[in-house]
Amino acid sequence: MRQEAAFSVSRIGDAALVQKQKALRTDFDRSLAMLSASVTHLPPCFQRWFASKSPLSNLASPLSILIIPFFAVACSLHAGCSRQIANDRVPEASGNAGDVAGNGTGSGDRTLASPLTTVAVSGTPSAVAAKWVPPAPLDSARAFGYLQQLCKIGSRTTGTAGMLAQQKLLQEHFEKLGGTVVWQAFTHKHPLNNAPVEVKNMIVQWRPEVKERVLLCSHYDTRPLPDRDPKNPKGLFVGANDGGSSTALLMELGHAMPNLKTNVGVDFVFFDAEELVYTAPNGSSLGDFFIGSTYFAQRLVDEPSDRVYRSGILMDMIGDKDLQIYWEEVGFQNAPAVAREVWEIAKQLGIKEFVPKVVHSVRDDHLPLIQIARIPVIDIIDFDYPTVASRTRSYWHTMADTPDKCSGDSITKVATVVMEWLKRQPK
Ligand SMILES: [Zn+2]
Repeated sequence: MRQEAAFSVSRIGDAALVQKQKALRTDFDRSLAMLSASVTHLPPCFQRWFASKSPLSNLASPLSILIIPFFAVACSLHAGCSRQIANDRVPEASGNAGDVAGNGTGSGDRTLASPLTTVAVSGTPSAVAAKWVPPAPLDSARAFGYLQQLCKIGSRTTGTAGMLAQQKLLQEHFEKLGGTVVWQAFTHKHPLNNAPVEVKNMIVQWRPEVKERVLLCSHYDTRPLPDRDPKNPKGLFVGANDGGSSTALLMELGHAMPNLKTNVGVDFVFFDAEELVYTAPNGSSLGDFFIGSTYFAQRLVDEPSDRVYRSGILMDMIGDKDLQIYWEEVGFQNAPAVAREVWEIAKQLGIKEFVPKVVHSVRDDHLPLIQIARIPVIDIIDFDYPTVASRTRSYWHTMADTPDKCSGDSITKVATVVMEWLKRQPK
């Protein structure tokens, strides 16, 4: 990715605000976690009170400091509450997690074919700490392993040995799982020296015989340099979140595809040369964005086929440990039905990292798909990955965009929502 959409200058202010809110929220969550850790040392009936009051967490931190001593004394006098809470805890740990992580979505969560699969971590108040377990066959540890494997290659910039190594890895991976791999190759002028550079989109087809299809896309090239790195802007950029996370997601989702019940054919499309872009000494950009996706979209127009894409989802920067995914404005305006469906599914699954609110407008690979190929495509992107603007940390387009900033759980949460969306495709 990209840059913030040109027409949304005012939104840059919003982005800074969101960064600030996120930092405040992180600090607050940390306080809450410390508080909840101390709570586990208190009598059980107080623990239960704390768990039940979590929706009031905005008040909890300062208020609890005053209230804890009072309850500690009161509860210690309350004989028998220990046994009661022990009994209560059994169902709490094994079921109804939808209410726990559903952020108030209530019993509606349980009407799903694939209910939320979070479970409470034993011994801690379930409303505070819940462990995410994705539905089979998705696996967070394996997804994170794919991310590490990709980053181990190093830079995966268009036309480099790293990109070739990645292409080989992905081809073997998807063919082993039963996907049909198709390449779309062409050359483009390198932005620095005009030499021809090979650009190669990779398409993995599932049920290639089905005419009605959907797209799941990600860019798989990494930016040539960590231009925004405050110390070493010419260092190594491995793009764990930016390029790596969405590629790892599709690698993980590949495990679900052979047995997935869906009414559509599905194509995973890995766009090359999303950001074969350098920063000129005067700060401007050298090179074009979205080269692979533009070529892909143009081919769809130039070579009409009876195989059509009804809609699509682009994914980018979905691995952040601190995940929040808002509606992205360009996708929301051009594919509102898809955007609403996806966020509704997340709500029903209790995956609260999907927040149904437009916050950012992002120029990304969905633009050519929308503008050239006229396919309604949304962008699932966490654009609040810390940047230099956040002052304390800076990961986006820096050497610090490494796997330790990402999480397998974030990757499989998004994969779970997308998988459910595939299952619900109408005929
Ligand atoms: Zn990027």
